[in-house]
Parts: sequence; C-alpha cells; structure tokens
Amino acid sequence: MNYALVTGGSRGIGKAVCIKLAEMGHNVIINYTSNEEEAKKTQEAVKAKGVDAIIMKFDVGNIEQVDNTLGKWMEDNKDKNISVLVNNAGIRRDNLLVFINPEDWHKVMNIAVDGFYNVTRLVCKQMLSKRKGRIINMVSLSGLKGMAGQTNYSASKGAVISATKALAQEVGKRGITVNAVAPGFIKTDMTTDIPEDQFKAMIPLNRFGEAEEVAGVVGFLVSDAASYVTGQVISVNGGLYT
Ligand code: NAP
Repeated sequence: MNYALVTGGSRGIGKAVCIKLAEMGHNVIINYTSNEEEAKKTQEAVKAKGVDAIIMKFDVGNIEQVDNTLGKWMEDNKDKNISVLVNNAGIRRDNLLVFINPEDWHKVMNIAVDGFYNVTRLVCKQMLSKRKGRIINMVSLSGLKGMAGQTNYSASKGAVISATKALAQEVGKRGITVNAVAPGFIKTDMTTDIPEDQFKAMIPLNRFGEAEEVAGVVGFLVSDAASYVTGQVISVNGGLYT
C-alpha cells in the first residue's frame, strides 16, 4: 500500500496538498507538530475522498522525534511504502538581520534545512530500494529572490533549493524525481500579518494566491505528466518574480 507523506499537513498549503493528493487517489500521512485539532480536520477531509489518512505528530527539526515516530512507523509497517514526500513544514521569524536573535536564526534554519534532512534521509532510502518516488520541497520566493527582513528564512529556503538540485542528480538514475515549489504570497495563517490590500499592487495578478493554487502544482509534480521533470523550482507567485 502506497502513501504520500506531507509534513506540516495540518494547516495552510500542506492541508491543501493533502486534499489534492487524496483526490488523486493517494493515501496520505499528515504530519503536524502541535495542532492536533487541525490535523484531525485534515484527516477527515482526506478520508472523505475515499483514501486512508494517518496523522503523525513529530517536529521535523528534531531528529530523535523523526526517528522514533516516522522511522518506527516505517519499521513497523513494512507492507506500507511512502512513494511521495512533500517537505512542506515551515515557519517565519522575520526581522532585520542585526535584530534576529540566535534562537530565531536557528529555529527557522532547523525546521527548513534539518527538517528536510531528517525526513528525506529516511524516506529516500526506502524510495531508492523501490526505485521509484517523488519528492517535492516547499521553498519560497524568498529563497530565490532574497527578501529584506527575512535573511534567516531566505537562507533556509535557498539551502533547500540547492539541496533539491543536488539530490535530484543523486537519485535520478533510481527513478526518483526531486523538485521544489516556490510560492509567493499565499493566504494562510503564515501570512495573516501581511495586508493583501497594501501588497497586491506589486503582484502582476493583483492578488494573493490560494493554498489550492500551490497544491495544484504539487499535484502536477506528483502526476505521470511530470515524469521527466526533476531538479526544478516552480514558482507559484502571480508573476511577482521571474
Ligand atoms: P502555516 O499555515 O503556518 O502552516 C504551517 C504548517 O507547518 C502547519 O501544519 C504546522 O503544524 C507545520 N509545522 C510548523 N513547524 C513544524 C515542525 N517543526 N514540524 C512539523 N510541522 C511543522 O504555513 P503555510 O503558509 O501553509 O506554509 C507552508 C509552507 O509553505 C512553509 O514551508 C512555508 O515556508 C512555505 N511558504 C508559504 C508561503 C505563504 O505565503 N503562505 C509563501 C512561500 C512559502 P501545526 O498545525 O501542528 O502547527
């Protein structure tokens, strides 16, 4: 039985990705770190599409938690296989560089960069043995362009963009594709403090995006239509940056 694992699947873009993948017929493992109530709502929405949905609590940045939950689940469920991984969990802790405290620097890097490593290392090993898999990393416009007030976040997403390109070259011969999706401004809990009215004028499509519009691109990258696409970063930003 095949599963898609979506980190940070309880809310926002991750939730929309879980629902999209469920619509495409994938069983889904919904990871979250604190918001069990929202994770359960996503689980219900996924189950409503007629596929299996498992919620799994771990902090992607904590290697012991990843090993003891995800690693243990993989060990205990040898009949189940994770064929799709969406590394989506992420946070912002914005400030001008000189005011970023060490905790906010390391926390953002930890969740994005260590989180990518902690989870992908386990799942990719299984994909290599099956000679099949799709890995999609949720990065950001900020990691491509650099954004003032987000040096920690830009650095973390830039690192994952480079890791995407490197890993794609490592595992391509084994039938695994690795791509990244780079959203611009998307309406989720992460962006409630950013006023759309003030910012939309600089976006060619003149609005913020919906989580479902990002999920649609993830769905494409997971689909057979994207079988020859790897090592790419696909922007979903309303034309804000090309
Ligand atoms: P969100 O609404 O704030 O949701 C964040 C999700 O990540 C939640 O499911 C949360 O789980 C989970 N999460 C946070 N820290 C985690 C950890 N340490 N371990 C496991 N899960 C964790 O954010 P979003 O806007 O959907 O963002 C999703 C991804 O897209 C992030 O990587 C973000 O950087 C990227 N992105 C977003 C935008 C945007 O405009 N929204 C733009 C560019 C890129 P809980 O519910 O348990 O807290």
